[in-house]
Amino acid sequence: MSDLVDSAKVDIAYETDSPVLYAVEGAVAWITMNRPSFNNAQNGQMTYALDDAFARAVRDDAVRAIVLAGNGKHFSAGHDIGTPGRDLHHEFDKRLMVPPHTNKPGAELLYTREQEQYLGMCRRWRDISKPTIAMVQGACIAGGLMLAWVCDLIVASEDAFFQDPVNPLMGIPGVEYFAHAYELPPRVAKEFLLLGERMSASRAHSFGMVNKVVPRAELRDAAAAWANKLAGQGRLGNWLTKQAVNHVEELRGKRAASDAVFHMHHFAHAQNDLVTGNSIAGVSGASAAAANKRESGQS
Ligand code: ZN
Repeated sequence: MSDLVDSAKVDIAYETDSPVLYAVEGAVAWITMNRPSFNNAQNGQMTYALDDAFARAVRDDAVRAIVLAGNGKHFSAGHDIGTPGRDLHHEFDKRLMVPPHTNKPGAELLYTREQEQYLGMCRRWRDISKPTIAMVQGACIAGGLMLAWVCDLIVASEDAFFQDPVNPLMGIPGVEYFAHAYELPPRVAKEFLLLGERMSASRAHSFGMVNKVVPRAELRDAAAAWANKLAGQGRLGNWLTKQAVNHVEELRGKRAASDAVFHMHHFAHAQNDLVTGNSIAGVSGASAAAANKRESGQS
């Protein structure tokens, strides 16, 4: 709790007013995370801007497919755990019928906030009525996974890698949107979560977590080609088809599993707070990056 109360006094210094870029090319909406100087770390400002962008793409009848991308070297380094724009205690409008969070004590603040911004919004974006493609380059870490996973298709460059290090770093069983054991075979999901190591695009492709891997120079063209093809097909057919597969995932228990693990996730946040005085066990962006460099053999 001390972490939440103390850091409530921290000023938020947004480096941009446009954390998400929106453009329409032909019948495809390109939604691009735009915090390249922070490897597209997701703060609340970005999360709500993503929600605005997805809503805009859905409401525009001329848009028939959506690409989600990240500006710069990396797709997304995950949730913002330490940039000047970290806005854990900033109140945004409540879009998913959750109550305000900033005036809640103890574990309730984070639980309420993450119900909307992470679990709730991810489910909402997954169920968008138009086909979505994640275009992934470089790092796709923790909170970045959630954004890629809610898209229907994932096209990655050869240099892309995927990682959820929150168990080794924070003692938390994966990010808020628990799809790991649906995206990967269970034993591979255990390895991915328990060890928290990087998974290359080619290995992710071998499990079907990624649809296509291409050289970096061809990434945008590959995503555009699929998006344009989808955009040229019938809108209702595309919608029904993605719903059909999403429904199968629900029959396999995806929603119930992610609900259960969301509560484990918050038990772990609360345990960290009780034991260390910080809901993420004192991990900062810098310490997480240092741990990652050690693991990958960089100095
Ligand atoms: Zn969390």
